[in-house]
Amino acid sequence: MSRNDDFSQTHIPRTGKVKEVTSLTNPIIKDLRALSMKKFRDQQGVFLAEGLKLVIDALDLGWRIRTLVFAKAGKGNNLVEQVAARTVAKGGLVLEVSEKVISAITRRDNPQMVVGVFEQRYEPLANLKPQGNDVYVALDRVRDPGNLGTVIRTADAVGAKGIILVGDTTDPFSIETVRATMGSVFALPLYRANEADFLSWRKSFSGLVVGTHLKGAVDYRSIPYGNKPVILLMGNEQQGLPDSLAFACSKLARIPQAGRADSLNLAIATAVMLFEIRREALILDERP
Ligand code: SAM
Repeated sequence: MSRNDDFSQTHIPRTGKVKEVTSLTNPIIKDLRALSMKKFRDQQGVFLAEGLKLVIDALDLGWRIRTLVFAKAGKGNNLVEQVAARTVAKGGLVLEVSEKVISAITRRDNPQMVVGVFEQRYEPLANLKPQGNDVYVALDRVRDPGNLGTVIRTADAVGAKGIILVGDTTDPFSIETVRATMGSVFALPLYRANEADFLSWRKSFSGLVVGTHLKGAVDYRSIPYGNKPVILLMGNEQQGLPDSLAFACSKLARIPQAGRADSLNLAIATAVMLFEIRREALILDERP
């Protein structure tokens, strides 16, 4: 059964409509609540994004919205009404719901006033053609949604061009990950590949693949990163990089440590690396 066939059998209509819903037992709300489960998100090819700003940013960046849910408190708010009109114009459904309902959908006590249901998007690895001084972050089997979200946010902040999810990773479209990205999930393309496909793609990549490894022989500050594209490859939280991936790296970098900690948190290590790789490119602007 195709994704579209699946979708037509659910209670979320395809055409633009505005509905008022207050009951948790309403079938549309049941379907939206089920989006907390990966299986259901994948069946539908959608995910939830909370907050008016996020929803506006996503629409501005061309993400396709299927459903907009807003709390009654948002009625009359100009921005909410504009977003609702944009959703309807795109053929999406708009739901006006009680706070209890929006709380149940997002599993939060103090929910945002607006939640959007967007179509998931992955780019095929075959389209990944880094150039110039592009930087991409590849994550080996990342497990923790907070780590993944923080890495996506940080990658966006340094101007990296995309994220490559290697192997079996946590879902970038889970509500926890999307929350932790603070909207950056909409700003960067996501690629995903199993290890074998990533390694085969890597053979045709002539830039620098910098793996980070606790046994890395090279101080991360000593690598000349400039003037060629870089793939920064980060290891799994528990096991680090397997040899199969480590052997495919141009360099294995280590961040020197003092003290008793065995290693840095994955997202922190990624941030340290990214700010070094992008050192020359990042310049303070006029923002306060
Ligand atoms: N027990 C794991 C191991 O042996 O590699 C620890 C993994 S660490 C929590 C998660 C990832 O963060 C590592 O695979 C590596 O990519 C990166 N990392 C953490 N600390 C690092 C350091 N000091 N130098 C280089 N990479 C580091």
